[in-house]
Parts: sequence; structure tokens; C-alpha cells
Amino acid sequence: MKNQIKPNITDNSITEIRHYLHHYPELSGQEYQTAEYIIEQLKMLSPTEIYHGIAGTGVAVVFDSGQAGKSLLFRCELDALPIQENHDENYRSHYQGISHQCGHDGHMAIILSLAKRIAEHRPKRGRVVLLFQPAEETGVGARAVVADSQFAKIRCDECFALHNLPDYPLGNVIIRDGVFNCASRGMAVYLSGRTAHAAHPETGISPQLALATLLQSFNDIPKNISADELKMITVVHCDMGEKAFGTAPADACIMATLRTETDGAMQQLVTACSELVEQLAKQHRLNYHIEWEDIFDASVNDKDCVEQIIRAAKTTGNTVQYRDKPFRWSEDFGALSGATRGAMFAFGAGENQPQIHNPDYRFPDELIGQGSEIFFEVYRQLI
Ligand SMILES: [Zn+2]
Ligand SMILES: [Zn+2]
Repeated sequence: MKNQIKPNITDNSITEIRHYLHHYPELSGQEYQTAEYIIEQLKMLSPTEIYHGIAGTGVAVVFDSGQAGKSLLFRCELDALPIQENHDENYRSHYQGISHQCGHDGHMAIILSLAKRIAEHRPKRGRVVLLFQPAEETGVGARAVVADSQFAKIRCDECFALHNLPDYPLGNVIIRDGVFNCASRGMAVYLSGRTAHAAHPETGISPQLALATLLQSFNDIPKNISADELKMITVVHCDMGEKAFGTAPADACIMATLRTETDGAMQQLVTACSELVEQLAKQHRLNYHIEWEDIFDASVNDKDCVEQIIRAAKTTGNTVQYRDKPFRWSEDFGALSGATRGAMFAFGAGENQPQIHNPDYRFPDELIGQGSEIFFEVYRQLI
């Protein structure tokens, strides 16, 4: 990076700050330097309070009028991804194999810009909280924030968030009532039997048939769940035995991502899959265990909060696109909006752009000002 000087919120542009954050990305749960930098910037704005160490590295800044009134929370995410980015901007990642390929650096810049505006136009009633949440990518951050003892201090009546989304016109606000993002969770099934000489497989216990049945059944189970909504299982990995012609296998692993529109249907899918694994293990005399990871609740938008976003977007001149169906991707914001009420929207990052998590994805800097304006309008309408 040409300019190694640390930009600050009073003297430098928000774009410079975004590029600085992009240059120093950190993985989920390890966002220590990022959080420290955010705290330094927020201190310059003389807020009412700054809380840190929320769910590990989380930071929340509070602007409180001291008067009764509504409380609002705006959320962004601190974490980057284990992806090697592929572009030659001068602010590209300083670290090999880690980059902000989901645009969370852009989301942080939006919320920092919002903080600056709020500091200049402090609430006359109620209070506003800006949350910089850790570990969104692994699905644990928002839930950990809600479970943290400090959450009581930042709990608000309504919470808001956005996520940039390539392939939609730049600055479009894509939104819907009800389920906005699907629930999803990762299932890892480990089967274990006993190896045998490949000439005498009958003397061992092979996971072969159980694995074959699971591969087929993961395709069929969603069709048998009665819920009238999207439900799917995507097998992402499978593995059995060793690469040795002389040995019949003992161990197998299959990993799949379960996805549904509602948490209720997810529970049905989880039960159906777990029961099948148990039954197959018994039938084939295998030991087994199941691990669940990356658990995301469905993210459900509140009708009134959606209307507030739509009103704000119309005021700022951003086109609103109303969606019929939820997005398939997951967002852990559901844990926050589920704890109170709230809404999130997808923010068009430009048509014909590489998708988030692609190595050549780039966050468009034009969204910083626009995103901060929309949130500021939501804030102005309510406080
Ligand atoms: Zn993201
Ligand atoms: Zn992401």
C-alpha cells in the first residue's frame, strides 16, 4: 500500500478508511486489530458510550439523548474470509490468503460514516446503537452477541442491516417482508467400522452401503418434508477409506448443507437426516457421530421496519426492488432481529459484477455514501 499512514475519521475520507480496512483483513473471531481501529475512530466522535469485547471482538457505540424514546440499532460485520483475492488495487490485502471478499469492509465504512453523521446530528430523544459484530461468516457472531452479558446494554427496539449484493443495479434496495434469508446449517456425518483385507471385505465393517444410501437419500429427503417452502440439501464433501487397493475401508465422512425458508422446516430436516443416519449405522453395524456447524437461523424482516427502509430509500432516491421469495443465502442477522425486531436489505453492488466470495469481487465505494444516507434517513424518521 502506498500510504501506510493510518487514516482517521476526522481528517480522511471514508473511502480511505474503507481501503485501510481492506488492506488489513482478519478472519472470523480474530478481528482484534480491526476492532481496535474502529474503537479509535469512534472515540473521536465523543459518543455517549463505547462497549467492546462483545462476543469476543464486537464493538458497539451508543449515542443516547438521555430522553425517553425509541432505540435503534444498525449492524455491520468485522470479519473477512480465507480467500486469496485477485486484483491489483493499491489497497489489496496485506495478508496472503485473507481478504474482505464479502465487502464487510464496505459495511463497516457505511456504519462509520453513519456514526459521523449521527455525531453531528445527535438524537433528541431515544438512542441509537451502532454494532460492529464479529464472526458473521461462520454464523456464530450475532448469536454470541445476543448471548453476551453486554447485550442487555445495547438491546434496542428495532435493528437494521444491509448486505451488498452484486448482479443487481448499483444502489438498488432489494427487500421483502417476512423471511429474507434462509436458515441453513452444515451437517458432518462420520461413520466408522473396521478395515479388512480387500480380498476378504466380509471380515471387516465397511461404511460403503451406508454412505451410498446417504448420498441418495440426501437428494430425496427434502421432497418428503411436508413444508410448503424451499428446502434443500447440498452435499459438499464426501470421503471414504484410504487410497490403497489392498484395504477395505473402515471410515467415511459426508458433509452436507441443509437449507430451508423457516426454522420449523429446518428442524424437520435435521430430525429426518439424524434418524436416517442412526438407522443406517445400526443396520450396517457402524459407529457414527454427527457434527453441526455454521448454524444460521432464518432472517425474518418485520413489516414496519421494512416500511421504514422503503421510505428512507425513496427519500434518498434509491430504487426499491420488492422480492417475492427469500434469498437462499443465509445471514446471522436473524439472531439479532429475532431477539427484538428488525429488517435487513440487499444493496445492489452493480450488474455483471463478480459475486461476493469470488476472488475478483470488489466492493463499490459509491455504496458507502448511499448506504450511510439510507440508514441516516431511517434514523431521522424515528428519532
Ligand atoms: Zn457478508
Ligand atoms: Zn460472506
